[in-house]
Amino acid sequence: MELSEFEKKIIEEGNIADEAARNLFPGGQLIDVVGMNAVPITKEILATKPDILFQAAFSYNEFFVQVDILRWNDEQTGWELYEVKATNAVKRTIPHHHVNDLAFQKIVLEKTGLKIVKAGVIHLNGEYRQKGALDYTELFVIADLTKEVRKAEQGVGDQMVDIQTYMAMDEEKNCECLYRGRNAQCTTFHYSNPKVPAYSVHDINCIGGSKNIFFDWIDRGIYALEDIDNPEALKGAKKSQYQAYMAGKPLVDTASIKKILGDLVFPLQFFDYEGYSSAIPRFDGFGAYEQVPFQYSLHTLHEDGTLEHKEYLVTDPERDLTRPLVERMRKDFDDEGTVISWYKSYESQRNDKLAELHPDHAEFLTGLNARMFDLMTIFSKNYYVDARFKGSASIKNILPVIVPTLTYKALGIQKGDQAVERWEKMIDEHTSQTEKDEMARDLLEYCALDTMAMVEIYRFLKKV
Ligand code: SF4
Repeated sequence: MELSEFEKKIIEEGNIADEAARNLFPGGQLIDVVGMNAVPITKEILATKPDILFQAAFSYNEFFVQVDILRWNDEQTGWELYEVKATNAVKRTIPHHHVNDLAFQKIVLEKTGLKIVKAGVIHLNGEYRQKGALDYTELFVIADLTKEVRKAEQGVGDQMVDIQTYMAMDEEKNCECLYRGRNAQCTTFHYSNPKVPAYSVHDINCIGGSKNIFFDWIDRGIYALEDIDNPEALKGAKKSQYQAYMAGKPLVDTASIKKILGDLVFPLQFFDYEGYSSAIPRFDGFGAYEQVPFQYSLHTLHEDGTLEHKEYLVTDPERDLTRPLVERMRKDFDDEGTVISWYKSYESQRNDKLAELHPDHAEFLTGLNARMFDLMTIFSKNYYVDARFKGSASIKNILPVIVPTLTYKALGIQKGDQAVERWEKMIDEHTSQTEKDEMARDLLEYCALDTMAMVEIYRFLKKV
């Protein structure tokens, strides 16, 4: 299976955070080999009694681990085991994977003869904001989970036995996500669950939260919506989606749509940011995973039907990369009229952050938030339900159904995660100018389509 850009980014962020956390342990030795070949190398190095090891590898039966950080504790004559998690907080509840991952590693290491005296998670400090060079001692938090890990060991040991039994089976069984909604599943779901149709009960809006009804269907082998024999149990958005699916046509609340659109004030300003985030902060004023707005598109629709387009892209980020962006926004926005976005909390939170960074523009930015309307509301509140949205109010699901002629398919960038990856490459000093120019064109085209999509969805709803 090919990993999605999003999945690749998660893995990459984890690796970057892992490398950065090594700065907390000066003098550590890195085992720069991945996989089983690292096991004999680890053995050799351990014989030399090192103080700190990065990526030490161990295997026991079917189990293999490569430990982020191991540190020798002289006082307790044993090893401290650390797992780096590229998250802003630690979870101490069992069986959360922050605890269970450590318990699994501890079990494998102890089976190979190491004594583990301490186990902890090293995670990012959500409060940290970059200012100049990174301060690793401030950026990371070391959380001691020794007690929790000891408690989790029995359960994890049992799971390891289960895994051995599972691996020894002739045929693979359905994976656990058969009992989870579509949003919780990874790209391999259809491989592990071939009997589930492409449009299934898993696609019903937030079905993972309605465990009683959902689990009952799965237990009885009800996967297709046509096979549901108790539709009266469905309420709200779930019921609307089911009805639209069975009717084969959209459910439309025209009165509510007319009322909402009638309250909007011209000129209508369709606005969208693209934002970059990383586990290790790269720009002053921003912290781990904080969204850095690097681009916007603005389509302004006047009452007489004329449409204007404005856009801005940060191509050469300096330390204060957002000031020129805000200054351009001040010129591009009209002082009056409704600002329209999709999932407005994203745009309004970026505006709040920019207001915090640039207090001289705070009034303008909070003013934008005060006149912002979320076009997604019409879909998230089920005023227009088409079963082909698959229970989602994402613009990427709505647009191809409502305005199939307007498509991302022909663009160099088709999704938000690709835009982030492309911007990161574009600002890289090793990228050639020709490539940078091409990436800038792709980014501008992509973001412009996001706001144009809103314009067309608005026009479609007006006709409805
Ligand atoms: S769908 Fe993916 S994440 Fe979910 S249980 Fe299956 S393999 Fe795991």
